[in-house]
Amino acid sequence: MTEAGGHARPAASDRPVPAAVDLIRAKRDGVPLSGHEIDWMFGAYLRGEVAEEQMSALLMAIYFRGLEPAELRAWTGAMIDSGERLDLSGVGLPTVDKHSTGGVGDKVSLILAPLVAACGAAVPQLSGRGLGHTGGTLDKLEAIPGWRAALSNDEMLGVLRDVGCVICAAGAGLAPADRRLYALRDVTGTVESIPLIASSIMSKKIAEGTGALVLDVKVGSGAFMRREQDARLLAQTMVALGTEYGVRTTALLTRMDTPLGRAVGNAVEVEESVATLAGFGPADLVEVVLALARQMLRLAGVDADPEAVLASGRALARYRGMIAAQGGDPDAPLAVARHIRTVPAPAEGWLRRLDARAVGNAAWRLGAGRARKEDPVSAAAGVLCLAKPGDWVQEGEPLLELRADDESRFAAGLAALGDAFEIGPDSPALPDLVIDRIGG
Ligand code: URA
Repeated sequence: MTEAGGHARPAASDRPVPAAVDLIRAKRDGVPLSGHEIDWMFGAYLRGEVAEEQMSALLMAIYFRGLEPAELRAWTGAMIDSGERLDLSGVGLPTVDKHSTGGVGDKVSLILAPLVAACGAAVPQLSGRGLGHTGGTLDKLEAIPGWRAALSNDEMLGVLRDVGCVICAAGAGLAPADRRLYALRDVTGTVESIPLIASSIMSKKIAEGTGALVLDVKVGSGAFMRREQDARLLAQTMVALGTEYGVRTTALLTRMDTPLGRAVGNAVEVEESVATLAGFGPADLVEVVLALARQMLRLAGVDADPEAVLASGRALARYRGMIAAQGGDPDAPLAVARHIRTVPAPAEGWLRRLDARAVGNAAWRLGAGRARKEDPVSAAAGVLCLAKPGDWVQEGEPLLELRADDESRFAAGLAALGDAFEIGPDSPALPDLVIDRIGG
């Protein structure tokens, strides 16, 4: 087993081989598992000697009982050791990645990776696809004709060395146990467990080989974690894991009650990202990007001002280089939806609330997202928020623009919006988007 972060991983021992059912019973009854037992369980599961229903039962026991810090460390280590661990030392620059727990209109990676690269750090960003109301970075970039998410390790390292940033799918060799466990969690009601989420996310990031990591843990209606206390605990758990495995890790808690920026979808989010890189980004998106960039540069030990670099156009040049290096044409026109509907303001007043989850669900129903991970997504579908909380709107003024390739989707999109917005006589308080920083 690997040693990481100065913590000895549980040594293989010649203790008797446990039976899966004994480990399930122990965890069910609140008895912590040893590192040896966890390693054995993973090995036997991956060899096909532990049945899916037994792993499912253990996951459910963990869902209810949690994992103690030593168990969590061993569980994460077993996931990392189920595959390869990349070595990014050949890149020649400090490496720093960002992970977001996902939100609506969260196109931050498309701007942040080239921005931080333009500041002088290398950004190896392994990203995922969207499921449900939140979009996925890879789905967004796949709206660009020719762009490829699937790179070999050598291709990924090549783009990282040549451009300074790469956004691609995690290869099949990285923490393969997580892929199997996640599929099982998805169908057994065990996704929403802080230790299982933390180990799932962190095993992939640690295996990726980044030297530092900034976590954007979103809080609010459009986030995985709606309550601040849960988001805080998840952030603390992930920061502790990263630090134990030798990855300098910090988390920002950021608000996700309203969509980030104005565009929610795939092509529309690429367009908004390019506008932001060109200096025309919406204020909320720029605020979150710069806050994360500052943390990434701090952890990477790079002294640069990301605001000045964004204004200089150098980040846009990196973005174009990254897209081209991955087969995409940064100048190609993006897909345009065949059908558009607008949602007008029912009254005059201040837009007090625009609910992120409702808008995310609407974009999903319009075709921008998927219900199952095999489903295709529409590049052109999505929602444009023509007004944001804090704007004064006139009665009848368009608030939202819904876009779809298939007109029959508007009914579901409009239904998903529900009471997505509130208009009133008083201007709303707009709290800071960055709530707190967790970790050094
Ligand atoms: N994202 C992951 O990669 N894993 C989880 O468990 C949840 C979100």
